[in-house]
This record gives sequence, C-alpha cells and structure tokens, in this order.
Amino acid sequence: MSPASANRPLTLALSKGRIFDETLPLLEEAGIKVLESPETSRKLILPTNSPDLQIIIVRATDVPTYVQYGAAHIGIAGKDVLYEHSEHHPGGIYQPIDLNIARCRMSVAVAEGFDYDNAVRKGSRLRIATKYTRAAREHFASKGVYVDLIKLYGSMELAPLVGLADAIVDLVSTGSTLRANHLEEVEEIAQISSRLIINQAAMKTRQTELQPLINAFMRAAVEPPLN
Ligand code: ATP
Ligand code: MG
Repeated sequence: MSPASANRPLTLALSKGRIFDETLPLLEEAGIKVLESPETSRKLILPTNSPDLQIIIVRATDVPTYVQYGAAHIGIAGKDVLYEHSEHHPGGIYQPIDLNIARCRMSVAVAEGFDYDNAVRKGSRLRIATKYTRAAREHFASKGVYVDLIKLYGSMELAPLVGLADAIVDLVSTGSTLRANHLEEVEEIAQISSRLIINQAAMKTRQTELQPLINAFMRAAVEPPLN
C-alpha cells in the first residue's frame, strides 16, 4: 500500500504545545474539532469530528519528514524547523504557506556581561551552541565572523552558563527564559512563524479534500494575531 493511498483519511501532522494549541482555532474555521488532547491522551493518532481527517502528533522537527514522505498529507511546522530540514532533505514539499502562528524570533544570546559587539569587532572566533546549525552558520558567515558550531538538541540556555559556548542561537518570544538564566539577546537573526506544508503528490491526488482545508486555514491566518 502506498503511503498516499486514497482510502486513508487525510492526515495532518502537528507537534504538541504551542503549534497544536494555535492550530485549533484554524481547524475550527474549517469546522474541525479535535476529539482528544495530546496533553492528556497517550494516543499519537487523534481523531477529529470528521472521519476524513486525523491528526498525528510528532516531534516538531519530525513534522517535515512525515509530510515529505507522504505519511502525513499536510503538517504545520516553524520556519526554523523547515529551514534546517530543507538543507539535507530538499523536495517533496509544496511551497509552505505562512499561517502567522507560533510567532517568535531567532536570536543570538550571550551570558550577561559578555561583550558580544567587542568580540565581533575584534574578530574573535566564537563558540556557538545551537539546534539551528544551518541558520547559525549562514548568519555568522554573512557577518564575516568565524564560529565553531556545537550542535545541541535542547536547553541551549545552559551552554554559556557552564562554559560550553560563548553564545547561543535560539528562539525567543518574551525573553523571560533568557532573563531567568542571566542571558541577554544581542542580535536578531530572523522572524519566525509556523507554516502549512503539503506533500507534493497529495496536492495532486487528494486536492478535492485538501483544498477546502487549505482555504479555511488561509482565511483564518490572513489577520496576524494582535499580540
Ligand atoms: P522538541 O519537543 O521536538 O524538542 P521543541 O522543544 O523545539 O521541539 P517547541 O518548543 O514546542 O518544540 O517548539 C516548536 C515550534 O514552536 C518551534 O519550531 C518554533 O517554530 C515554535 N516556537 C518555539 N519557541 C517559541 C516561542 N518562544 N514562541 C513562539 N513560538 C515558538
Ligand atoms: Mg519541546
């Protein structure tokens, strides 16, 4: 059976947490209600009030993989995740549609008291810890700053505090996590929001079912949230 088999319900890949939470109102615009919560249910496949649509819950970084291979027909992922994914796995995904949800920024942060501007001016080589190695590498290359990148998978804030790195590249929204760890944001790299991604083959073979859902998502997403 091919993964995009026509009798399978449409499958939407989401990660739990803010992307799931901020997707619910968009689904409602399409008349879809998710019948269980990923926070309380142990199920990884969540039914909806439509027999034609199911939700799968996967790690944020795995959403593009499920969609690229057609195991999910559509998915929602941050620009941060999509940018890193596309470096090693080009193709298979239709042009992403910005939904304006899960908005934040990707920034450089250092320990309070570390003079980042001076280090850059002097041409010091910097150790950067991050999960976003492509974005970080390209950012520092464009500034002409030499860096040693250290790949981490979480809790980046710790790295400068224990001497693993001079700086981190991470996502920031209010800055309260940085402040709680005595770090400060010194440079913004990019504005981040989440995007709807669609499997390229499904866009052709399942268009009749996909199009109303895509339209509803786009209607709900035109107005960026006020916060
Ligand atoms: P995993 O659980 O797989 O390790 P994660 O912990 O990075 O992933 P989240 O923190 O839930 O997962 O982030 C998922 C997505 O939500 C990110 O890829 C990003 O696009 C967005 N996001 C992350 N942090 C923020 C934030 N502070 N404000 C708004 N959106 C954010
Ligand atoms: Mg997480």
